[in-house]
Amino acid sequence: MRRLLLVNALIFAVLAAVVAFAYFGWANSSAVALRDEQFKLLNELAVEKILNIESNVEEADNRILKVVRLDQLDKLDEQVKSTGAAVASVFVLDADLRPVLNGSKDLTSRAQVEAVETRDWYLAHELRRAALEKLDLEKPTRRYGRGPDGKPYLLTFERKQLDGQNYYVVVEDDLNHLINFMIPQFFLGSRFLYQVADENNVVKQGWPFQYEKEALAVQIAFSGMLEGWHLRIAEPDDTAAKKVRDRRIIDSLLLGGAVAIILLGLGLLAIAIRRERRSNELKSDFISNVSHELKTPLAIISMFGEMLANNKTKSPEQATEYAEIIWRESVRLGRLIDNVLDFAKIERGMGVYEFAESDIVEVVERAIDLATRRLQTANMALEAHIGEDIPLVQLDANAFTLAVLNLVDNAIKYAGDGKKIELSLRRDGERVVLAIKDFGPGIPLEEQARIFERFYRAKEMRLKPIRGSGIGLALVQHIARAHGGDITVESTPGNGATFQLWLPI
Ligand code: ADP
Repeated sequence: MRRLLLVNALIFAVLAAVVAFAYFGWANSSAVALRDEQFKLLNELAVEKILNIESNVEEADNRILKVVRLDQLDKLDEQVKSTGAAVASVFVLDADLRPVLNGSKDLTSRAQVEAVETRDWYLAHELRRAALEKLDLEKPTRRYGRGPDGKPYLLTFERKQLDGQNYYVVVEDDLNHLINFMIPQFFLGSRFLYQVADENNVVKQGWPFQYEKEALAVQIAFSGMLEGWHLRIAEPDDTAAKKVRDRRIIDSLLLGGAVAIILLGLGLLAIAIRRERRSNELKSDFISNVSHELKTPLAIISMFGEMLANNKTKSPEQATEYAEIIWRESVRLGRLIDNVLDFAKIERGMGVYEFAESDIVEVVERAIDLATRRLQTANMALEAHIGEDIPLVQLDANAFTLAVLNLVDNAIKYAGDGKKIELSLRRDGERVVLAIKDFGPGIPLEEQARIFERFYRAKEMRLKPIRGSGIGLALVQHIARAHGGDITVESTPGNGATFQLWLPI
């Protein structure tokens, strides 16, 4: 019955795991496709925004470079203003890289001195005559860098000519305006989160999210101007990103669950196989033990029966003795058959017990009576201590008698050398406890739990010529548990064994 349940559970577990795996595969592939789609979308968006931002800057620079007329530098102010471009400053240099008179225009709010200092710094550090001379005519070039105070700058410059002479127009882009006003405008009303990070990964503008921790985020480098800078775009956490995260959690739970189920299934399978093998071994032992046990008394009965039938007795006393032997062996045979039949009934899960309020003292005394002859033959004494205050209990008298007889029989069989058996029946709180103590070889600790298994016989006993079937204690345990109680054993090898069978009151 239990094995059937186990096998069913196993089949179910494996099926469930297979279904889970199939679902996982399917769900994962669609989730991956969805995720890829979302990443692609973000990527495209970032590339497009960068393109827009860069062409915007480029356009403004080109407009300025176009309007600056070398022959009308006195109108530089108006010319620059007319473009409406947001730049920090414009300055014109001659062929020797000297600022041209009236050729400098600062559009920031910084002091004049500071503007001049900044320009001179660019002249000293960024602009090289040899490099500038090689520039194509009227083709803007960009240079990004960090000033003396670590501030980023972006210069756009081109070579122009007037009367065969080289001039250079340099535009200092207004990065402050670009980062703090222009870029935010590109994301006005967008549902996405964005960030602009510089070459040191410092976030200069945007939302305060942590790029690395976002489930759905991309970063694209600015290509043509701010070298090393990135634009990052993330899906806000409450939308698709959350779905991706949830999906990821569900996926890992599902995968973990499926793996656990399969491992569990394999584990159970291994246990079931081991149990099956052991039970098969035990069963074949059982069959040979039982046949042996049946054959021996039968052989004795038939031998002495034949002697009696052929009048081969020397005296009437001998005839009585033979008859007693026949009787004893047939009782034993009967007990064995009872055991086997009851055990078979229990194994098939049939309701074999009939409970009634009974006097347990009477039942135990009757069992002792039934065992008297076997005790005498084995030359053993049974000391019984029956308590005074033992109440009536719910009991199947026949089954309980069988249990007591099995325990006493075992003590006779295995502990004959001890010569003595102590049986006690006492009340212990809400329990009635029957203890049967012998003084035989005892039971090794590692076998104490196993002797209650069906068909199990202790190793040492298997080597001795003591007959047994291995179902006695399994039956006693079943009877005890059916009564709501249990059986335990205590034994120190060499010092006998005590079996305690308790029932609830
Ligand atoms: P059987 O007696 O037919 O072998 P049981 O189920 O009654 O089967 O007992 C199982 C095993 O427990 C026995 O084979 C024996 O090894 C061990 N055993 C039972 N009772 C005793 C005892 N009183 N002393 C030592 N060993 C015992």
